[in-house]
Amino acid sequence: MSSLPVLVLNSGSSSIKFSLYEAGNGERTRLFEGAVDGIGTDQGKFWIKNASGTKLVDQTPEVPSRSVAFKLVVDALNSGQFPAPAAIGHRTVCGGPTVRENQRITPQLIDEIESYADLAPLHTPIAVYIMREALRLFPATPNFAILDTYFHRTLPEVATRMPIPTEYVAIGVRKYGYHGISYESIVYQLQPNVPEKLVVAHLGNGASISAIRKGECLDTSMALTPTSGLISGSRTGDIDPGIMIFILKKIAATTPNTLDAAEKLETVVSKKSGLLGVSELSNDMRDLREAIDAGNTKARLAVDKFCWTIARWIGSYVAELNGLDMLVFTGGIGENDIASRAEICAELGGLGIKLDPARNNVRGAAVISAEDSPVTVRVIPPLEDLMIVNHVVRLLGE
Ligand code: AMP
Repeated sequence: MSSLPVLVLNSGSSSIKFSLYEAGNGERTRLFEGAVDGIGTDQGKFWIKNASGTKLVDQTPEVPSRSVAFKLVVDALNSGQFPAPAAIGHRTVCGGPTVRENQRITPQLIDEIESYADLAPLHTPIAVYIMREALRLFPATPNFAILDTYFHRTLPEVATRMPIPTEYVAIGVRKYGYHGISYESIVYQLQPNVPEKLVVAHLGNGASISAIRKGECLDTSMALTPTSGLISGSRTGDIDPGIMIFILKKIAATTPNTLDAAEKLETVVSKKSGLLGVSELSNDMRDLREAIDAGNTKARLAVDKFCWTIARWIGSYVAELNGLDMLVFTGGIGENDIASRAEICAELGGLGIKLDPARNNVRGAAVISAEDSPVTVRVIPPLEDLMIVNHVVRLLGE
């Protein structure tokens, strides 16, 4: 195959990230990357930088809506500075029970993905908007949906089945798993020496952890929605389901409309909980570390709860894998927050996990475990855009 420019679009609730790769003959070269942040505010950020990190665009426009945000991206793409994309890969957080394979986007596929928007309400609405716009604006260019749930297709039924009545399973209630493109990229980077028993902790603003056996996902902490599993920036993670019923009844006392009450509950569990809820300060680990240094006890408790929860999940995955060869940290916190890695691993010596404090203190170090640690502990950045390009190239060839 000759070299093709492949565009990657990755949208979140308040941002659109994008990158353009030159792909062909096994080579992948990133030509540029960029983002529009702060959608819905009058203080947005729009930047594009080239492969050597030079900023080609650096603006602070008003970005009141996703349509204004995407127009900024499209106008930049059409400015003549960059090669026109030959294919576009859309990061797709969840396709629900029916869309399980990475595939070419059609109007029908977008409708199908949209019908399960409730499963990823922060991500799916903006993603389907961008898919429709991309088909309209680039009608001759093949667009592909690359799913975060795809990596988790190997989960056994004992993991995916929820202990609820079958009628709810029939309408799609099960464990899907998220952050799959990140997990795939870690396995990809470990090739050809992927350890048999691997745990990867993706600790970012959203946080999850996966048990991976021989490169295939065996279990993962996020289930039906990204709110489940580990505590994250503003999400509860797993909590007693009775808490939801208790809070819902409190909300219903002043909000009689059921859907309005459900939305208020969703705001509580998705946007006001987690590190933010416990610290009453911030969902951002950098802010919390600063506050801890200044003696803030609520920030200390929030981070203790975060690290304690992750250590317990690691323990359960060691049991599930019946041992452990390697633990990998990734995501913004996993890659950068030295203290979180140390605090998570502090009590895991009994599982064979022993950090080398000096190695852990070096930013950018690959291996952070002690020489005599039975389990290797590594830090690996996720290469999600590269994985999306790989999938697009494979699908173009099919
Ligand atoms: P992500 O969603 O992967 O971009 O990760 C966002 C999280 O990573 C936020 O909680 C940030 O505070 C955290 N983070 C990013 N850089 C650092 C850093 N240098 N030290 C500590 N935490 C960081």
